[in-house]
Amino acid sequence: MGDSSLKLAERRERMVEEQIVARGFTDERVLAAMRKVPRDLFVPPRLVAQAYADRPLPIGLGQTISQPYMVAIMTELVGVGPQSRVLEIGSGSGYQSAVLAEVAGEVWALELLAPLAERARATLSRLGYGNVHTAIGDGAQGWAEQAPFHAILVAAAAEKVPPALFAQLADGGRLAIPVGRARGNQVLLVYRRDGDTFREVRETGCRFVPLVSGTATGGRGVGAALRSLSQRRHGSGHHGEVGRMKAVRVRVSGRVQGVYYRVSAQAEGRRLGLQGWVRNTSDGAVMLHLQGAGDVVDAMLDWCRVGPAAARVSRVEVDDVARDETLQGFEVR
Ligand code: SAH
Repeated sequence: MGDSSLKLAERRERMVEEQIVARGFTDERVLAAMRKVPRDLFVPPRLVAQAYADRPLPIGLGQTISQPYMVAIMTELVGVGPQSRVLEIGSGSGYQSAVLAEVAGEVWALELLAPLAERARATLSRLGYGNVHTAIGDGAQGWAEQAPFHAILVAAAAEKVPPALFAQLADGGRLAIPVGRARGNQVLLVYRRDGDTFREVRETGCRFVPLVSGTATGGRGVGAALRSLSQRRHGSGHHGEVGRMKAVRVRVSGRVQGVYYRVSAQAEGRRLGLQGWVRNTSDGAVMLHLQGAGDVVDAMLDWCRVGPAAARVSRVEVDDVARDETLQGFEVR
């Protein structure tokens, strides 16, 4: 807590005044959240000096942390209160998740790219946001087990609204989603559910990265992205994650039983030199315990998201757990 953190707090205050209040934004609860959440912890270390700039910034894997003003607008548009259950799709750095966690009751945050999801989860837990639940998965399918949601906020542009999101919206709830082509014009649409009708209540121009289809990226796309991330990490000591040991408990749902998921996971875990175990759960999911170096665990999580050929993974949920010192190798339980 020296000069530099004071300066960051000052910059955060100026960001709110000059970029948000000055543009006519008045929602006090959202302003208070933006004054509180340390955006500098959600950007890569080399970009900390720009953390409070009036624009999106790169966070790796071709993705960006949204412009502060856009985060304020999105948070206001979904109209959440202290009791609200919110689904956030495309959580990226986790910054929007933290802002939502300040104004809503509970936040379920989905991110397609495992390394980003992992980093966001670590930052959010370090800041003590116990009301944010993160998972790796394709947001176009929503999060059926936790539905309905009072608000759904999508931070990546879709060509059309994924039907699952309408289905998972509570009566009276709001869905905010940028719609349009990847590099073309997009509009931020807001729908309000009224029984079985969905009224479009507002729109404004915007620019977001595309909502990628989970199946289109396949294992290869994400794997390549992961490799480039770990190269960068090794090059620059990115986020200080290299070599750090960790243990996680993972729940994989979808079509994952009767498809050789466990033996394939064991083979992959052994190949990567991880310690852990894998077992089926009585409700049709697969549970894994993984421990080893941080980026190797990340690589395994990436494999878990795809699984063996016959599997259809719909969701991967990850929790930090204590290391189990009694484990040796990787077993099927
Ligand atoms: N609000 C975030 C924005 C991140 S950019 C932030 O401020 O950090 C949008 C994110 O959406 C990217 O991280 C991208 O990986 C993710 N994304 C794209 N398609 C997705 C999908 N189908 N499901 C879940 N996340 C997706």
